[in-house]
Amino acid sequence: MSLLTVGSVAFDALETPFGKTDKIIGGAATYITLSASYFTKENNLVAVVGDDFPREMIDILKDHGVNTDGLEVRRGGKTFFWSGKYHNDMNTRDTVEVQLNVMADFDPVVPPAYHQSEFLMLGNTAPSIQKTVIERLPRRPKLIMLDTMNFWMDSAWDDLLEVLKRVDVITINDEEARQLSGEYALVKAAAKIQTMGPKTVIIKKGEHGALLFHADSIFFAPALPLEEVFDPTGAGDTFAGGFIGYLASTGDVSFNNMKRGIIYGSAMASFCVEKFGAERLFNLTTEEINDRVLKFVQLSAFELQ
Ligand code: AMP
Repeated sequence: MSLLTVGSVAFDALETPFGKTDKIIGGAATYITLSASYFTKENNLVAVVGDDFPREMIDILKDHGVNTDGLEVRRGGKTFFWSGKYHNDMNTRDTVEVQLNVMADFDPVVPPAYHQSEFLMLGNTAPSIQKTVIERLPRRPKLIMLDTMNFWMDSAWDDLLEVLKRVDVITINDEEARQLSGEYALVKAAAKIQTMGPKTVIIKKGEHGALLFHADSIFFAPALPLEEVFDPTGAGDTFAGGFIGYLASTGDVSFNNMKRGIIYGSAMASFCVEKFGAERLFNLTTEEINDRVLKFVQLSAFELQ
């Protein structure tokens, strides 16, 4: 089934204990669509960039089967820019700078060819943009999933609460779940967030895995213990893309299938962190992905007796 993704397409400047990059290609929607492209064939993108954004990157998305008709290239505009610096644990980071640029007044156009998309991924971007995309679809998708971050909680709280009422699944990291809910314990935080709209809450805990809360049930997926993590940027988005891409490829939104989706998402994220930026997602094979998924199965499989 088809997936429509909205979110940032960006320039990032990153600093990790392993090194520093100048402007490289990033953005939530970049990671999401690349990751999802390994699962779903119909991958529709709505986003905005400036004309400083390299054509070659748009071609890479197209080569992955991503439909970029909904990617506005604003003439004379500058692409969204984010820079971040990771702490030594690589699990926490500080935002050094955000320049919204063309994202500040983006009025998303959803091409008619996207109107029947069955899955909608509201990747990290302004909540008002996320809401507009829902409103511009003539038919409610089978599943709407949202990702957000503390930046929007600090700057667009009311808009965020509004859009949250309309989504089925939220993915959010542990600190952000605490900020959104005002609860410290993650089980309580998830329960509170479930009253705000999304009935399914996925809390990402970086190298400590992810928790899936669905009605009264909880599922936990570990992150793969890796020898080397170069750059965690985009891991959360890659995870989300793998998760929803897998659901879209199967058309099944049951709790059981979401458990599988979490594992596929975690496997995709484990590739993402192996190189700076999104590069590791450019050339994966189905075999590599399936091998990784098996590693997850083996990681916590045991015999009771
Ligand atoms: P993640 O590491 O999964 O949280 O995602 C990092 C990506 O999110 C980077 O490539 C950034 O370009 C993008 N990003 C950072 N801040 C924002 C923001 N306020 N709105 C949208 N995207 C953002």
